[in-house]
Amino acid sequence: MSRLSDRVGTFTDSVIRRMTRISNAYGAINLSQGFPDFDPPKPLRDALARIAYEGPHQYSITYGAKNLRESLARRFLRTAGVDADPETQVLITCGSTEAMMCAMMTVCNPGDKVMVFSPFYENYGADAILSGAEPIYIPLVPPEYDFSLEKIEQGFKDGARALILCNPSNPCGKVFTREELTAIGELVRKYDAFVITDEVYEFMVYEPNVHTSIAGLPGMADHTITCSSLSKTFSITGWRLGYMIGPEDVIEAAKKVHDFLTVGAPAPLQEAVIAGLDLGAGYYEDLKKLYTEKRDYFLAGLDRIGLKHNVPQGTYFVMIDISEFLELEQFKDMSDYEFCEWMIKEIGVAAVPGSSFFREPVNNLIRLHFARGKDTLDEALRRLAKLPVTHNAENDPTENLR
Ligand code: GLN
Repeated sequence: MSRLSDRVGTFTDSVIRRMTRISNAYGAINLSQGFPDFDPPKPLRDALARIAYEGPHQYSITYGAKNLRESLARRFLRTAGVDADPETQVLITCGSTEAMMCAMMTVCNPGDKVMVFSPFYENYGADAILSGAEPIYIPLVPPEYDFSLEKIEQGFKDGARALILCNPSNPCGKVFTREELTAIGELVRKYDAFVITDEVYEFMVYEPNVHTSIAGLPGMADHTITCSSLSKTFSITGWRLGYMIGPEDVIEAAKKVHDFLTVGAPAPLQEAVIAGLDLGAGYYEDLKKLYTEKRDYFLAGLDRIGLKHNVPQGTYFVMIDISEFLELEQFKDMSDYEFCEWMIKEIGVAAVPGSSFFREPVNNLIRLHFARGKDTLDEALRRLAKLPVTHNAENDPTENLR
């Protein structure tokens, strides 16, 4: 008999985070786990320095510092059109990671079904297992990453209590349109279910695409648990600040789960991030511009090398098709995971194997991110150019593929 619980035997550690460790061990350029290599805006660092002396250094209110909740509620009214009460409808968590887990534990009983789009951010698999929920996978079908509303309706008929919606989507970069979200929302209301969103890339959306928070669509605020984070928006992934906004009954119950899981997010960091939220609309414009430039620059580099990739509508991820390499004798019978290990050691660039995102047996994709300074992206491209591209890049323009 194992000394460990059955639960921990049912999932692995995060492949995304594992790739970072392997990358570090070999000194590769880490384009696997998505986080920026540049500093947060100066006002945040200044605030953090000030708070080091002025405090707070002790617990905040478990569900989050009042001024941070108020600040987020104001921003959500501006961006989503939802007027959330900062006292009863906003909960500050340790990253969106905790928010998602907490949301699942709050609305799912063991054995309940939840719908998850595939490809999906790998945490949702573990969230489902740890909350006892059983995932029903809804394929996002390339090249447009479309989905079938009939499949979603069937999922609700089969008893799904919630649908997990990562928008913009990690890893495929899909930004759901207002029409798609409206159609999903109609089904959610019809079956009196929830949408649990993960909107951490909400401010990294490339024109002409536009981010829509499903909570803001008519009738949806009462059916949506919006999870998001300040990590990506302010380049502070290590601060572990996320939040959940939703209907009062859900948030009040989620506060209990959160309280016993973590007590609270780091108080000094909650205080310091207010300086970021005070930056105003111009900050988000600049952020979008920065990432649009990075995306365009990196994708153009991939095109020059002749790597086949999708064109993300949002997020800082891009999927590369490695089919042509896997056909070579050198890589015969390799999994995408083994290919990524080879790439770290021999090419010096770390990626995440696509299989860790797909329910379907997909072995031909790897994910890279471009949240890196220009010099690092240049060096990564120089290294990627050593991949044994066999086709004629000129004849093979960028295309969307799975
Ligand atoms: N969302 C990031 C990614 O997919 C990582 C987040 C994390 O590791 N907590 O790479």
